[in-house]
Amino acid sequence: MMTKRWGILRGKEDNLIRDLRETALSCKKLGERYGVSRQAVYAFSKRQGIVRPLKPKGHQTKGCRLCRKLIQISKKRHSEYISIHTIAKEMGGTWAEYLPHLRTLKSKGLVNPKFGRLRSKKVEKAYAIYFTKELPIRTIGWKVGLNNFSSVIKKHRELGWNVPPSLYVYDRKEKSRIQSGIQREKRR
Ligand SMILES: [Zn+2]
Repeated sequence: MMTKRWGILRGKEDNLIRDLRETALSCKKLGERYGVSRQAVYAFSKRQGIVRPLKPKGHQTKGCRLCRKLIQISKKRHSEYISIHTIAKEMGGTWAEYLPHLRTLKSKGLVNPKFGRLRSKKVEKAYAIYFTKELPIRTIGWKVGLNNFSSVIKKHRELGWNVPPSLYVYDRKEKSRIQSGIQREKRR
């Protein structure tokens, strides 16, 4: 097999670094993904000093402390709206450590497939308010410094997230104002 030069990766190094850090995919698989050899991926990860997450090979989910803890967190109400940062914190470790276990649990159907997908802490905060307080979506956005919370909700719904309706009841006047605002933005 011919070893391709790194030039082909230019601009994609960041993606590869992320995949090396956050997935347990083999160097061979990553090589295929990035169009370089297995050896090149391996050498690159060494050069970058990346510590790869371990594959939870042949381990028993029930006997695994990390898996048990993940299942426990995933059983919380609205657990899919917990960000990966909070999960890592509750796990008492890093994302890379628990990710392979989460993958195993998902492949076995033991946790909600949406659990552990949310990356943004701001969005997590916004949802936490959304589920508990009777506030307009826009106000929640302001509180957490998110100016597009309503489009985040819309996107999540489109992706199949079961986002419950807002606790805040909009009166008719507000509704039409928001609608015309949306129309204005669309026309832009
Ligand atoms: Zn495990």
